[in-house]
Amino acid sequence: MVPTNLFADRARDVVDESGLILDPVEMAPYLTSWRDNWIGKARAVLRPTDTQQVARVVALCRDMSIPIVPQGGRTGVTGASQPNESGDEIVLSLERMKRIRSIDPDNDTMTVEAGCVLADVRAAADAAGRIFPLSFGSVGSCQIGGNIATNAGGVNVVRYGNTRSLIAGLEIVLPSGEIWDGLRGLRKDNAGYDLKQIFIGSEGTLGIITAAVIRLFPRPFGTAVAFTSTPSPQAALKLLSRMRERFAEQLTSFELIQQRCIEVTCRRIPSLRKPLPDGGAWHLLIEIAGQDADDVLQVRLGEVLEAALDAGEIEDAVLAQSRHQEREFWLLRESIPEAHKHEGRSFKHDISVPISRISVFLERAEAALKQIDPDLLMFTFGHLGDGNLHFNPLLPPGREPFVDELQAVNTAVHDLVVELGGSISAEHGIGRLRRDELLHYKSSVELRMMATLKSAFDPENLFNRGKILSESAHADSPPTGRPATV
Ligand SMILES: Cc1cc2nc3c(=O)[nH]c(=O)nc-3n(C[C@H](O)[C@H](O)[C@H](O)COP(=O)(O)OP(=O)(O)OC[C@H]3O[C@@H](n4cnc5c(N)ncnc54)[C@H](O)[C@@H]3O)c2cc1C
Repeated sequence: MVPTNLFADRARDVVDESGLILDPVEMAPYLTSWRDNWIGKARAVLRPTDTQQVARVVALCRDMSIPIVPQGGRTGVTGASQPNESGDEIVLSLERMKRIRSIDPDNDTMTVEAGCVLADVRAAADAAGRIFPLSFGSVGSCQIGGNIATNAGGVNVVRYGNTRSLIAGLEIVLPSGEIWDGLRGLRKDNAGYDLKQIFIGSEGTLGIITAAVIRLFPRPFGTAVAFTSTPSPQAALKLLSRMRERFAEQLTSFELIQQRCIEVTCRRIPSLRKPLPDGGAWHLLIEIAGQDADDVLQVRLGEVLEAALDAGEIEDAVLAQSRHQEREFWLLRESIPEAHKHEGRSFKHDISVPISRISVFLERAEAALKQIDPDLLMFTFGHLGDGNLHFNPLLPPGREPFVDELQAVNTAVHDLVVELGGSISAEHGIGRLRRDELLHYKSSVELRMMATLKSAFDPENLFNRGKILSESAHADSPPTGRPATV
């Protein structure tokens, strides 16, 4: 192992003193995940200020065979942005690269550096009279580079798609130390492979994103937001169809929330208020947006909700009467992960199935888990409009899981997801959390293609080693998964 002081001496030539952290206390936050469940060790944290510095850090690490963990806002939940426990790796934080390089409102694009916090990107778009629609609970901490590296989803995917659909171009530092300038703001570009797509969702394993051209959209003139209770997920799906038929792309969010999530969140964060009186097993947070005024959209949404009430798809509804009230509804939804974090032991899943199979999934998953542990308390919320749920059952307060319970619960949930044609990771990625399960659920042909890509871009396995694929995965010895379908 290369001595750290030797590395530090050379690193000082690349980044200035404030760009190099060696002190264990200062390093600690960079080694710890949002849920405090992944804590690693590192030789150093490097904080370059521009793309050239990133390229020089990579070249230095390559020269000394030191593995790199690219890091954004550390809000990821799969252990992908923390180093392992060897102490051999360095963390490369993009947090000082936060310039908005340019805005082109006529082209509806903006060029931003990877370390820009998502909330700042959204504010810059807003100041230019446009919107950048990516949004979710960690908007104030996560960075656009991390969003791209995880292909993040969030609450507006129904209308705008996930991060992949919002990216026009990328600037990447490759494991070779070369810089790829793919910062094109084009609507159409079929000149060969679309290489940016390989890096989107690659969780820092193939390249370091240093900047991106992101797509902007016209600012909707008005919005209408409703909070409803609904008797069942099946009834909610009927309302989703009704909303789609009536509003088409004006429907921007359709979020499902189990009653227990509201109880726990309002108890843990007393400043939050329940939008509806108690009752109802499930709730929906619905937003429409368009070029009509708020009151016009509210009337239209109100008409659809009345019809849904008559059809038994909902039991009660409240329409936000002001932007402030809209914010309150959203704050409640966005605070659920924070409240859940403090509520005790839980089993987390970020699953997707075809939208039409959501209620089958929920019924069968609950039944399967009650067989494993009758004490489990269902805690489900998420992006119903995308067929993506955070299915996070809790253990009662003070109860610890029994031996192998995690394994039993994950197997029951993920076997069912796969049987229903779904995915074991809808928007959070694989990281280390789902890496071994990926081996079980992906076919060998898919795993071989992934290992081949990794070897082609990063033959020395320098970038985010052991994330998505195991440390030893290589094109010459690809991991074996399910047999390929012939
Ligand atoms: C309260 C809360 C709510 C959330 N809600 C959602 C949600 O609705 N939808 C959703 O998709 N996610 C959600 N997340 C998860 C998380 O916020 C996203 O995955 C986010 O995109 C991670 O961004 P980050 O900057 O924090 O990345 P990090 O956590 O720092 O890193 C995540 C991954 O990206 C890599 N990476 C980071 N920056 C770069 C870069 N510049 N170049 C190459 N690789 C890089 C890291 O190596 C790691 O693999 C939520 C998290 C929290 C805490």
